[in-house]
Amino acid sequence: MPQPPTAEILRLVSSGEASSRTDLARVLGLARSTVSLRVQELIDAGLLTETGEGPSRGGRKPRVLRPAGDGGYVIGADIGARHVRLAAYDLSGERLHLTEVGLDITASPEACLTALLDIIGELNTTLAGQRLLGLGVGLPGPVNFADGRVERPARMPGWHGFEVRDWLAGRLDIPVAVDNDANVVALGELHTRNRGPEHLVVVKAGTGVGCGVIASGVIHRGANGVSGDVSHVRVQAAGDTPCACGNTGCLETIASGAAVARGVGARDTGHLVELANDAEPHATAAVRRAGGHLGEVLSTVVNFFNPHAVLLTGRLSSVEPYVAAVRGALYERCLPMATQNLEVAVAMAGQDAGPLGAGMLALQQVHRKERN
Ligand SMILES: [Zn+2]
Repeated sequence: MPQPPTAEILRLVSSGEASSRTDLARVLGLARSTVSLRVQELIDAGLLTETGEGPSRGGRKPRVLRPAGDGGYVIGADIGARHVRLAAYDLSGERLHLTEVGLDITASPEACLTALLDIIGELNTTLAGQRLLGLGVGLPGPVNFADGRVERPARMPGWHGFEVRDWLAGRLDIPVAVDNDANVVALGELHTRNRGPEHLVVVKAGTGVGCGVIASGVIHRGANGVSGDVSHVRVQAAGDTPCACGNTGCLETIASGAAVARGVGARDTGHLVELANDAEPHATAAVRRAGGHLGEVLSTVVNFFNPHAVLLTGRLSSVEPYVAAVRGALYERCLPMATQNLEVAVAMAGQDAGPLGAGMLALQQVHRKERN
């Protein structure tokens, strides 16, 4: 028998769409006994209360379900190279607070994460009276999700092997989940689209190039958590250019924001995007070439995986010629069957995808804890 998702029950009760076990059974199309079991778990976990008596429709008066007054909240933190974007969500996934604060990832992991704890502490003060129940973190480097550990990151000196999840969980005493930024962005985008169990390829094109894979509505991390890593695929146009990974000719050396910015003398990815959006000819041409190279690599992914959509996020996705070049390369090189209904677009969730996806990871941990 299918298990009703706890997040969905909390959402239905919080939004007022359902106020009793009978309502929930009807809305979810499940047996009342199945729903009752889950509701009782949520009551026992202190997330729902069942109070008073509702209007009788003849017979016994139904008891009314409400979110517990102190329902608590989770935090999703999307850490970039220089900033963290951090949001708090209630247990139905409703956003309570959003903030962006400077954070230096090139400092030691302890210094960076201590600064994160300070930001979380301030948020706790803002949301006084509510309990922090879980934390999800996205990091701009490879993460072994099962261990919550960073593995050989390119731009995070001192982080290799650092157990981020355990370090944070030990200090906050709540469930913590850590994943790479492309995966949390993909999760945030999936949640925003809300179109059911889709197959999605979500590419984060900023200073680096990352890619999250959603298969049948679930994030696909692969055996070691590196699923979707397109940045170190070899492309002919990159020749023998050395890459931070130790190899040569990787996509990242010619299609990442950092590489393209260097090539046209821009200060950084942000400056490159500014130039391209001002139609500066060199920057625009370079960005268009980069999009073409990314599209070339993604065409293999699309032929192989046959997704519903390829969605672009990150700063380069705001440059129209970049998006057009990716789309052009995909349509030129993919099998007609694979592109027949393929959506190639800029992701909907924008900058909020990261914190939202990290928040969803945190919610998953909280709900998992309830079931244990
Ligand atoms: Zn490489």
